[in-house]
Amino acid sequence: MLPVLVVHGGAGHIPKERVEMSCAGVRAATRAGYAVLQGGWSMDAVVEAVTHLENIPSFNAGCGSVLNVKGEVEMDAIVMDGRTLASGAVSAVRNIANPIQLARLVMEKTSHLCLTAEGASQFARAMGVPEVPGESLVTDYARMRWEKNLAPDANPVECQMGKMGTVGAVAVDADGNIACATSTGGMLNKMEGRVGDTACIGCGGYADNRVGAVSPTGHGEAIMKVTLARLILFHMEQGLSSHEGSDLGLATMKERVGGLGGVVTVDPQGRWAARFTSAQMAWAAAQGDTLHYGLYPGEDITQSIGDPN
Ligand code: ASP
Repeated sequence: MLPVLVVHGGAGHIPKERVEMSCAGVRAATRAGYAVLQGGWSMDAVVEAVTHLENIPSFNAGCGSVLNVKGEVEMDAIVMDGRTLASGAVSAVRNIANPIQLARLVMEKTSHLCLTAEGASQFARAMGVPEVPGESLVTDYARMRWEKNLAPDANPVECQMGKMGTVGAVAVDADGNIACATSTGGMLNKMEGRVGDTACIGCGGYADNRVGAVSPTGHGEAIMKVTLARLILFHMEQGLSSHEGSDLGLATMKERVGGLGGVVTVDPQGRWAARFTSAQMAWAAAQGDTLHYGLYPGEDITQSIGDPN
């Protein structure tokens, strides 16, 4: 079994001028996480990769998150440890640069699975997590899209452009331990206090050493209706491969609730998949000496892991 890390940078429709940035971002995050995975624990690797992406302003997580209806950033994040089924999540958090690290603290330092809004902020303060000004998480691009979307003559197709950008990762390490992590700013113009799939175990992430792990992205309400991460793992428990289980889960979500999205998936043998029903999903995977990546359906470009680009 070869350790593997698979990362996504969100399902959706990405404007041409942002394609390069997104692909480079997921490749860099995969390299950073994979360096940690060498001789290390899958949980450390997925948190490293997601932290890396939260710090890149072109993704919808951490700085660069989409704005809610009031023009503010509210973020959701989750981690899960496949050894023990321990999980930690935060929802509707503000003023935190790296919600994924706060989610991990919820898992490690509390007896709860999810903390929300002000309670999550209080916990962050108690843990010594630095608070950042809300405005520091807002990019000009996020503000521009928010304003465009509010305009009475807004074109609904254009509003979807660049909507992708939620970030996530799954990994299996050399000991066979499996973990997942997902982080997002949610959906553009969401209501204040909206909690999406990303904070909900079984929806925006699930990891179980016996079956595998999934990190989804896409329309959160649709993902929650079919509990997408757990649905895919159910199919894998029934004997489907990570690839087949991912496709069947995504097809069910499309057929039953009209939702589009994407996932990265691993099984305990280190067999992985990056699958989506959206127009695009930036993803990358590292295993052995090879880095795979893609953006369009069917695309799987390979390069050496040592290639700096
Ligand atoms: N699933 C995220 C949410 O609904 C958004 C996304 O993945 O693009 O909050």
